[in-house]
Parts: sequence; structure tokens; C-alpha cells
Amino acid sequence: MIRLEAAFGTATALLAAAGTASASHHLWWETAVFLGVAVFSLEGAARERRARRDRERRARVEAQRVQLADRGDAPAPGPCCRFWQSSEGAVHSHDCTRPPAARTTLSEAEQRVLNQLADDTRDSA
Ligand SMILES: [Zn+2]
Repeated sequence: MIRLEAAFGTATALLAAAGTASASHHLWWETAVFLGVAVFSLEGAARERRARRDRERRARVEAQRVQLADRGDAPAPGPCCRFWQSSEGAVHSHDCTRPPAARTTLSEAEQRVLNQLADDTRDSA
């Protein structure tokens, strides 16, 4: 969300300016408060920027995977655990090799590709 990132950035700039103005008037504890909140706001802006880049990277990777699968270049994904095989990806076992964050449900496009791969595998068997 770029708006929140921009809001954090604006807040950081305004708080830093207020802190500088307070310091010029020798209002030291006000300066500390303004600059302290500015630091938190800066951290929030950095967190939002990181999240946005992660979302963009994930979308790029998903699009690339779908594109590869559509061309038929993508290798069939190896099963990460026995439960994954028997539950068609819905459930994972305790010794699953996927990282926990990747055990969530697939995106719609990824699920379509997975179903297509399963159909292709079933046809050739
Ligand atoms: Zn698994």
C-alpha cells in the first residue's frame, strides 16, 4: 500500500522538521519527543516499502511460473511431503520440507497450473 508508505514518509519529514524547530528554540524534551516519533514513523515507512516490494516480487514470480507452465517448460513440482501427495496440496505433514509460510493455500493461478499438471500426469499414466 503506497498511500500508507507515503503517509509514514510525510509524517517522518514533518516530525523531523518540528524536532529541528523545537531544538532551535531550546525546547529539548519536545525535540526528543518529535525526533523519537519520527524514528518510529521512519521504521513504519521502511516496513511498508519492504512489504510492497515483497508483494511485487511474489506477483512477478507467480506470473513467471504461470508463464513457464503455459509454455510447458516448467518441471512438475516435486512433492514436499506424503500428506501433500495424498491431500493434493491441502494438508502438509510435520516433516514437510516447505517453509511454514509456503504451506498456505496457492494463488488462483498457481492452483490452476497445479490442477493442469495433475490432469496431464493422469492422462499420461
Ligand atoms: Zn508438504
